[in-house]
Amino acid sequence: MSAIDSELALLLEDSGRKPKLLVVDDQPTNIQVLHRAFSADYQVFMATNGPQALSVCRDQHPDLVLLDVVMDGMDGHEIYRQIKADPAISDTPVIFVTAHNDPLQETQGLELGAVDFISKPINPDVVRARVKTHIKLKLQSDLLRKLVFVDGLTGVFNRRYFDHRLSTEWLRASRSKSSLALILIDVDHFKRYNDRYGHQAGDDCLKKVAQALLRGLHRPADVVVRYGGEEFACLLPETELAGAMQVAHHLEQSVRDLGVVHEDSAVADRVTISLGVAVKTANSPATFEELLTTADEQLYKAKNAGRAQVSGTEW
Ligand code: GH3
Ligand code: MG
Ligand code: MG
Repeated sequence: MSAIDSELALLLEDSGRKPKLLVVDDQPTNIQVLHRAFSADYQVFMATNGPQALSVCRDQHPDLVLLDVVMDGMDGHEIYRQIKADPAISDTPVIFVTAHNDPLQETQGLELGAVDFISKPINPDVVRARVKTHIKLKLQSDLLRKLVFVDGLTGVFNRRYFDHRLSTEWLRASRSKSSLALILIDVDHFKRYNDRYGHQAGDDCLKKVAQALLRGLHRPADVVVRYGGEEFACLLPETELAGAMQVAHHLEQSVRDLGVVHEDSAVADRVTISLGVAVKTANSPATFEELLTTADEQLYKAKNAGRAQVSGTEW
């Protein structure tokens, strides 16, 4: 096995799926050639026009797109401009398939930001080799992003991601004069849980709590992170105090409903959480450090008032 093959094999194992390749061409015969070249190793999607290509990108998030430049209707360059203009898919890597020997098409494509180009008539071996290289790069960058921003134990975002998100959401909320809610969450009597059931069981418990929190959030912009040891945080853009309190109570109930037995807890027969809610109101002059401090104070209040409950405030 070559170096690229063995590295790719590891990346594929990590991603747990076949890479997704989208082939866009208005000539069915070209699509057939490419489909034959790739269907064994890739999940191949096909589109014969611009709107179809964009909708596959949005639904499937392909790892790589082979995009024909010359097509009836929307041409390849225009499709690519639209991919770039949509933040949800703008990172999609694209290889342009250009007419043979047209340096102008090639430079235009590369200047637009394409990762590579391939010229027609297509040589399947050349295409396979280039696709393999770009798929490897894509999987590497996915993995890097995961390692940097996702918590290894629970699979939810980590503190580093939270710090980035909090500052961007804070700026957005301040600019648009909208509210922003933060919920800090801490597992109750978790030291006793570890002491009684062992560290491995403690880890399993944290995974379950994280998943319950994740399931408890419903808006696409809402985010849950592991903030530290047995602490989590939720960030809810454009959410006012009443809404944030409702979410917090729902999360408290969701974790309670997991029914993870905790015989040494002083507050219940199962694992529970305490939650501190802080909401920045639309015109608040506060800083995001104050939002964090306030949520922490509210969490402390919930703990002192007997745990397994929510405390919140806004300003
Ligand atoms: P309180 O109700 O006041 O929050 O009590 P507590 O015992 O939960 O709080 P404390 O901060 O005293 O203890 C937190 C415990 O969480 C101690 C630590 O061993 C455990 N913990 C932190 N991170 C992890 C982890 O990744 N895995 C496991 N199993 N335990 C962890
Ligand atoms: Mg704690
Ligand atoms: Mg705790």
